[in-house]
Amino acid sequence: MEVIERVDTIRERMQTLRCSGKRIGFVPTMGALHEGHLQLLRASVQENDITVCSIFVNPTQFNNPDDYKLYPRTIEQDTELLKTVGCDILFAPKAEDVYIQQSLLQFSFGPLEAVMEGEHRPGHFNGVATVVSKLFHYVQPHRAYFGQKDLQQVAIVKQLVTGLSFDVEVVRYPIVREEDGLAMSSRNKRLDAKQRQAAPSLYGALQLAKQQLGNKPVYSIKAAVEAYLSSMDEVQLEYFEITDPDTLRPLTEVQPGQEVALCIAAFVGPVRLIDNMLVNLNEV
Ligand code: AMP
Repeated sequence: MEVIERVDTIRERMQTLRCSGKRIGFVPTMGALHEGHLQLLRASVQENDITVCSIFVNPTQFNNPDDYKLYPRTIEQDTELLKTVGCDILFAPKAEDVYIQQSLLQFSFGPLEAVMEGEHRPGHFNGVATVVSKLFHYVQPHRAYFGQKDLQQVAIVKQLVTGLSFDVEVVRYPIVREEDGLAMSSRNKRLDAKQRQAAPSLYGALQLAKQQLGNKPVYSIKAAVEAYLSSMDEVQLEYFEITDPDTLRPLTEVQPGQEVALCIAAFVGPVRLIDNMLVNLNEV
């Protein structure tokens, strides 16, 4: 596996690969790799000639300085894991090289960023859109793989790709979970034993909501989720929404046959976690 740190080096390398007709798959990450990341990478390795993984803890998408400072960084272990899945190129740039000057660009995604992660993490999606645009320019991928775990991020990236005519196919990959249902996340590494035990309750809340969909009104499902999580020590619910899976607009009522996305964010101890579930109301 090649390891490239410099922006001008990756640009040149990718230019050469593209001109020689290689299909490029790209998996952008912030490192501290887990099985969720590895499954995205395996999909890319299978579906493309060359797979590039980026590891970059992007400062501009963190609205909380502690979250940025404490974000797990395990580059040596990550490098070894990437070799095991057949990744061809690891791109691990330095922040100074990506942001040679402070970016003053402002993206606007309309209603999509006014809810959930957009509402609760001001500036987050601006940072995501900035870094994804930069990474797409450096890596010039044919396909880029994103996890459904960050459902709103996928919607933002799709809007970015359409809005700015990036010639990239965005692939959404399903959520990979631990055996107890907890969605895998680099931030899980920060949970202590008690918090780790409480963390699957986010998934529990989504399952509870799924069971009640179609039988109970939305406000009552939301109240049941709030009640369930308020009984958990260590868990502080930030939001739970039943949304349209494409626009992520929160719904106040649902219709038979409709597809919805159940979305949740909560603090478990000091660690903020998110999760979601796509549900077809015909199947509940
Ligand atoms: P991150 O390193 O957290 O920025 O994640 C890099 C990519 O991996 C993003 O597209 C995430 O949505 C995806 N990802 C993270 N956790 C999971 C998971 N548990 N299942 C599937 N994809 C994931």
